[in-house]
Amino acid sequence: MENNNAAKNDVILDVRHLKKYFPIATNFFGKPTRFLKAVDDVSFTVRKGKTIGIVGESGCGKTTMGRCILRLHEITDGDVLFNGINIRELSHEQLRRIRPQIQMIFQDPYSSLSPRLPVGEIIGEAVLAHKLVDQAHYKEYILDIMHKCGLQDHYYERYPHEFSGGQRQRICIARALALNPKLVICDEPVSALDVSIQAQIINLLEDLQNELGLTYVFISHDLSVVEHISDEIGVMYLGSMVESGDKTKIFANPLHPYTQALFSAVPVPDPNVKMNRIILKGDIPSPANPPKGCKFHTRCTKCMDICKEVAPVYKEYEPNHFCACHLYSQD
Ligand code: SF4
Repeated sequence: MENNNAAKNDVILDVRHLKKYFPIATNFFGKPTRFLKAVDDVSFTVRKGKTIGIVGESGCGKTTMGRCILRLHEITDGDVLFNGINIRELSHEQLRRIRPQIQMIFQDPYSSLSPRLPVGEIIGEAVLAHKLVDQAHYKEYILDIMHKCGLQDHYYERYPHEFSGGQRQRICIARALALNPKLVICDEPVSALDVSIQAQIINLLEDLQNELGLTYVFISHDLSVVEHISDEIGVMYLGSMVESGDKTKIFANPLHPYTQALFSAVPVPDPNVKMNRIILKGDIPSPANPPKGCKFHTRCTKCMDICKEVAPVYKEYEPNHFCACHLYSQD
């Protein structure tokens, strides 16, 4: 019981039945009549200092879900609790005050940096806006963050176009860390970078996590990267979480047929090991018109009659291992 309470107190992010629907058609009076269900009833928790990797094909809703946590998109339904505070209920002023604690690192380090500002100003702009340090200590503070992210002092006066992709992503990381966040949403932070640079950025994120006790939500379509960096995994399909829990358990025993198909595509660095790749049929259906019953049934090789009619319940099959599939007991 005590262990359970300790684990609950340790939770920094608690996402409960999160939904984000975008209206795509309206009636004569302007009332929405059809919706694109980008995020459809997603729940998970993350403990302090840990990393949850969110995986799934392009268009599965993982980026929208990350933006909803920061309320960059208004939430349609459900709750996002950050350290027990419900982000959905905050006023704009309350949200502005809490924002430094939740930061986001974007996929594209080329378009997410202003070309007109030197690096020191890019990193420090929000620090000044939120009055995190006084003027006397400002430059020293920014240089310290730059050192932590592997950026040299003389980069302070230079402009983004003078840097490579990897260095730009270090600047983006420094900009996020300058606000002293507790939670960082990393949205495909290495997928725009060369493979050789990806490892450097992943190592930097891990070092910073160990040093500063950061918590990450790491969104990626690259399972090898997610396996390396995560403590927990969440697998999304068509806006819904189909499997989540402890990384070791999910990699050792993936339950959901979609997770099994995704994992079968991870390359094994051993020429003697034959890959039994599961090829998924067809394309991901439109989230504007998702299939009835289990959303995955149009592509699932194990589909049964019930799957076409009844949506499976998302439930815990072993401690910290959740799945939504009729193949397992749905009592
Ligand atoms: Fe496949 Fe049915 Fe499980 Fe959906 S519920 S993943 S269709 S077996």
